[in-house]
Amino acid sequence: MDGILYLCATPIGNLSDMSPRIRECLESVDLIAAEDTRNSIKLLNHFDIHTPMTSYHEYNKIDKAMSLIATLREGKNIALITDAGTPAISDPGEDLVRMCAEAGITVTSLPGPCACITALTLSGLNTRRFVFEGFIPRDKKERAQVLKSLENETRTMIVYEAPHHLKGMLDDLAKSLNGGENRKIALCRELTKKFEEIDRTTIRAAITKYETEEPRGEYVLVIEGRDAGEIRAEEEARWEEISVTEHVKMYEDKGMDRKEAMKAAAKDRGVGKRDIYAALEKESGKDSVNEQG
Ligand code: SAM
Repeated sequence: MDGILYLCATPIGNLSDMSPRIRECLESVDLIAAEDTRNSIKLLNHFDIHTPMTSYHEYNKIDKAMSLIATLREGKNIALITDAGTPAISDPGEDLVRMCAEAGITVTSLPGPCACITALTLSGLNTRRFVFEGFIPRDKKERAQVLKSLENETRTMIVYEAPHHLKGMLDDLAKSLNGGENRKIALCRELTKKFEEIDRTTIRAAITKYETEEPRGEYVLVIEGRDAGEIRAEEEARWEEISVTEHVKMYEDKGMDRKEAMKAAAKDRGVGKRDIYAALEKESGKDSVNEQG
């Protein structure tokens, strides 16, 4: 019988967050695959765990996944851990899980610390709908594309950032997001550690703060989404620039019949079909008066 791959979340700062279930799992599996064995040995020593370890990191992830799958096929159980937090979230693991699933190997997750969820819950921002962006790419073109896609995002956004890139990230958010400077942001730093800090502020105020202060520690940024009502009002205002007659004709030219075109125009303008009908009457009246005049 094939072995099982266990995804084990490890503390993001506070060692007391290591769950008993994960300790037991790490003690009982045949092998631990770790992102950085030199880093993980400290954690394992702390908990007196002496299971053999092998490395599984970004740069060997595909070849290593194949050899781990071969080990699982021999009936051995493997636990995957990363430097901190939940494997497969901005950490190696995603490919291993996919490849195990494709190979029909059982994968299970032992949940625990995860920086993005910890930050979101502390942000004081809307938690009902959110989008996790992980690290925004550093490549110029890719970065511009991702930021562009977020300019009118209405859900709360979560971004991981290293301290030396924080200032640049704040500047880019201020420039790229619609109304960026005034957006609320929670800068969540050193979560679960002694100097944990949640700075609930605006992007503008955060930029000012870091003009005189060097960012230190690990950050999760939680950013307020754009107000959906504001987007609707803007769209409706755009339609005010053309007459209702032109608006309906625009849809008729696209192949809609009159009824469908009126319905679409009503939806765009955030009004009822009756209002469109009344406006068409009025505008055609105006036209005939103009023609007569
Ligand atoms: N898989 C991990 C998780 O989801 O918890 C994240 C790993 S990712 C390589 C590392 C990033 O997570 C850091 O750059 C930082 O943005 C965030 N992070 C991890 N630990 C943190 C902490 N204690 N406080 C704030 N951010 C943290």
